[in-house]
Amino acid sequence: MIDFQGIIEDITRNLKSIEDRGTVASYIPELAIANKHKFGIHLIDSQNNSYSAGDAEEAFSIQSISKVLSLAQAMGVVDNKLWKRVSVEPSGDPFNHLSLLEMENGIPRNPLINAGALVVCDVLISQLKNPKEDFLTFVRNIANEPTIHYDEKVALSEKRTGFKNYAAAYLLKSYGNLENDVDTVLDFYFHQCSLAMSCKQLAKLFYIFMNRGKCLREKEYLNINQVKRINALMLTCGFYDEAGEFAFEVGLPGKSGVGGGIAALLPDQYCVVTWSPGLNQKGNSKLGMLALEQLTTRTGLSIF
Ligand code: GLN
Repeated sequence: MIDFQGIIEDITRNLKSIEDRGTVASYIPELAIANKHKFGIHLIDSQNNSYSAGDAEEAFSIQSISKVLSLAQAMGVVDNKLWKRVSVEPSGDPFNHLSLLEMENGIPRNPLINAGALVVCDVLISQLKNPKEDFLTFVRNIANEPTIHYDEKVALSEKRTGFKNYAAAYLLKSYGNLENDVDTVLDFYFHQCSLAMSCKQLAKLFYIFMNRGKCLREKEYLNINQVKRINALMLTCGFYDEAGEFAFEVGLPGKSGVGGGIAALLPDQYCVVTWSPGLNQKGNSKLGMLALEQLTTRTGLSIF
């Protein structure tokens, strides 16, 4: 049996001495207060054993990792109808780029870049009775963690400075690819991104993508085909213009966020979440990527 606990403790120890920890995101002012010296990792295997090291129980802003969760809820509700409004190709661009969106007539490249995630938010707003509450309940139920919450300060901070997202939403609206008004869609989006969670809580959520759509209590949230598609999107689009590098170095479907989190999984084997707020130039957690590279190299467990 693989000594996951020994390996993640070792990785955490190795990373302590690294001086260049990247740069904490500051374009959302509230994120800039994060401490660059934090590092946490939590892994859950298919037998439901949990392994933790570092600051794995400290809550952080999950940001774009939330796009996978809203996508999961939207697929549960509208399933393949979603693909009429969002494509499934990697963009090769940063998460907030707009040029392709204009060139491709308001159809975002994929649901994991900002424009695509805004369309997913729009779908949920049209389909759910109380979108923000219902989305939060969906997330809390999967993880069986009733204390997961939106961080209102982070949501407000992004509302004040998220100009690129306003631009994306207006562009989508101009192409007729938003049913609801721009402010409503952005309010939902900023809240979903503001979700605060620990590595441990987030790993309990990502368990469904490792476990064929079933949560830790074996309730089914997604069918096998939906999980296959979400995992394919994470592999090809989860790290924006660094998706190739992540596949090359780590070899797992996963998703990053500018709060410094990365969630990744190996189907039927394990899911893992790392958190370290310093980002590399592509906006992905610097130490998180290093840690996951070491994890898949040392365990020999990647999709390849
Ligand atoms: N809320 C952030 C934004 O839209 C999310 C970006 C990210 O985590 N990559 O800019």
